[in-house]
Amino acid sequence: MAETKIPRATAKRLPIYYRYLNILLDADKKRVSSTELSEAVKVDSATIRRDFSYFGALGKRGYGYDVEKLLAFFKKILNQDTLTNVALIGVGNLGHALLNFNFHKNSNVRISAAFDVNEAIANTVQSGVPVYPMTELKKQLIEQQIEIAILTVPTTVVQDITDALVDANVKGIMNFTPLRISVPETVRVQNVDLTNELQTLIYFIEHYGEQLGDK
Ligand code: ATP
Repeated sequence: MAETKIPRATAKRLPIYYRYLNILLDADKKRVSSTELSEAVKVDSATIRRDFSYFGALGKRGYGYDVEKLLAFFKKILNQDTLTNVALIGVGNLGHALLNFNFHKNSNVRISAAFDVNEAIANTVQSGVPVYPMTELKKQLIEQQIEIAILTVPTTVVQDITDALVDANVKGIMNFTPLRISVPETVRVQNVDLTNELQTLIYFIEHYGEQLGDK
């Protein structure tokens, strides 16, 4: 099993393929063509074939791809991947912005799965990231071995979601809500309160403006 360096654009599409192949598997489909896959995940079939070729996969002319084999293969790659996969909970304004921003351009981190309670957005792909319903939270995090989560949900639900994340073995939480969450010692929390940051900046400008030095 050679260490394959997968282009980042390809790596970003992996969870989408993975998601769709799981749907096929659930529907008892044994094989899929790149054209069929292309229509389902809205990636052109030449790109799909190129993506798959990085994994040494595996399609046969006139047969397509073996769903189960491909899934087993992707599972391995998604886990082996040097990128750290992160989940985002709450695809509202801020959640959308973060999905759009994604982190992969500048780092080895990317949001690979998002979750939302809103049925209108669950089971869609937003900015290249699949959005799952909350009922799938634990299953997906464990299956995709995601240990880091970003919280962009309303404050009213943030502790309940935190508890669910802890239950799904998450090790780190980036909390964008102004509420301080409670976690066991084994879980690390990073709080990012944008409103508070901005207010602090304004406070310093107003109170210490003259002393700011030579910027
Ligand atoms: P933002 O606060 O990011 O500007 P917003 O104002 O659009 O977002 P919020 O009400 O803050 O919306 O909700 C953020 C997102 O969290 C929404 O997409 C909402 O559907 C989702 N959300 C609300 N409750 C839950 C929950 N219990 N579990 C998961 N997602 C939730």
